[in-house]
Amino acid sequence: MSGTLSRDVVIVGASVAGLRAAEAVAKAARELTITVISEEAHPPYDRPSLSKAALTQPVGLDAVSLRSVARLRDQGVDFRLGTRAVGLDASCRELHLERGSISFGALVLACGCDPVVPALLAGRPRVVALRRWEDLLSLRAALAGTSVSVAVVGAGFIGGEVTSALKGSGRAVSLIDVSPQPLGRFGAFVTESYAALHEVAGVPQYFGDGVVDVLEAGRGRFLRLSSGAQVPADVIVVSGAARPSTGWLESSGLILRNGIVCDATLRAHEGVFAAGDVARWFNPRYGTQIRLEHWTNAAEHGRIAGLNAARSVVGGSTEVCAAVPYFWSDQHDVRIQFAGFLGRDERTLLRRTDDGSIVLYGRDDQLVGVLAFEHRSLFVELRTMLRGKGAWDTGMELVGAAISTS
Ligand SMILES: Cc1cc2nc3c(=O)[nH]c(=O)nc-3n(C[C@H](O)[C@H](O)[C@H](O)COP(=O)(O)OP(=O)(O)OC[C@H]3O[C@@H](n4cnc5c(N)ncnc54)[C@H](O)[C@@H]3O)c2cc1C
Repeated sequence: MSGTLSRDVVIVGASVAGLRAAEAVAKAARELTITVISEEAHPPYDRPSLSKAALTQPVGLDAVSLRSVARLRDQGVDFRLGTRAVGLDASCRELHLERGSISFGALVLACGCDPVVPALLAGRPRVVALRRWEDLLSLRAALAGTSVSVAVVGAGFIGGEVTSALKGSGRAVSLIDVSPQPLGRFGAFVTESYAALHEVAGVPQYFGDGVVDVLEAGRGRFLRLSSGAQVPADVIVVSGAARPSTGWLESSGLILRNGIVCDATLRAHEGVFAAGDVARWFNPRYGTQIRLEHWTNAAEHGRIAGLNAARSVVGGSTEVCAAVPYFWSDQHDVRIQFAGFLGRDERTLLRRTDDGSIVLYGRDDQLVGVLAFEHRSLFVELRTMLRGKGAWDTGMELVGAAISTS
């Protein structure tokens, strides 16, 4: 593309937030022209699948593709795949691509995050940070030998999922984290339960032990940790921090602060909205700015940013985003789910059963969070409470009734 095109609504990013935004625009105002820009050349896909079944089963991209693309194309949405946005002039409403520019009535930025790879590991062979389809292909290729050892560096939820999937398919895999208490923000019990899951599965764990060196030894490779331990690491999966993909927006006129800063309607600038992992928005439910890296939040953001972008062009009231954060994670056949928003000083209530456990988090007389290992239907009820004004006592009663009768 060269020269300047003109579109009513332009969306950067064709993952969950970008597609939900396109759907919302098409639904709110059929007459608007919509273009979706994605630097990834292939059709959009479901990112959470990469650390789950798609990691160990020989499925192709088609198995994890997001089906809404065909419907959106039928509705006239113009997809520019393999096209990178390189700059933005928010005041002039002009988006710059590698070749050419697009002027827009409204813009939705749904450009997500990039993984961060520690300098010690960056650029080495068979080191993969799993974020994109190509990363999955690289990881599958690196795992091709039968006796290949894997070290997962970063014991968060995604690191745990990768460990679980690889261990489940018979791989020798170790889990490493510099923090002595991975997932410690949810409380010591959650760290212990997470560690116990991996221990029962036979995964060697090195927590509170940072990687200090990489030892290439003939055909094998090892990571040396601060404790002196040497961990087999023919393949290294980095699963730590991610960084909002905002480098290209430095001189755009937007406020960037670990994400694109937006108001409660996801508006970052006149005519410019942000959605998903890249958006740091003011969540009126909690009275503070939040940025999340969760699928459900990205989907909800996409819907609201798309609706508000369409209405900024055709007129109509805006919607605020007061979502309750939620995520799920699947590890060793156990579903872990969390909903809510935690500070530092919550009281907790823990109930453990043979088939799982549930933790309630409360502040004053309010229920502010719930985390569950299994206990799926109880979790759904508690999550619903969090969307309203959930009282701590009611949450405790619900848990007491469900667990004493289960
Ligand atoms: C392996 C993995 C497993 C996960 N599992 C879970 C899970 O179990 N549960 C859960 O809640 N969440 C999970 N997540 C998180 C979830 O996938 C993300 O929250 C979600 O994908 C965010 O969607 P998004 O649309 O905001 O951004 P992304 O999915 O990051 O997509 C952004 C898109 O924008 C494109 N882009 C970026 N910059 C540009 C540019 N300048 N020009 C054009 N295109 C650009 C990118 O290439 C990308 O395609 C997982 C994430 C990963 C990586």
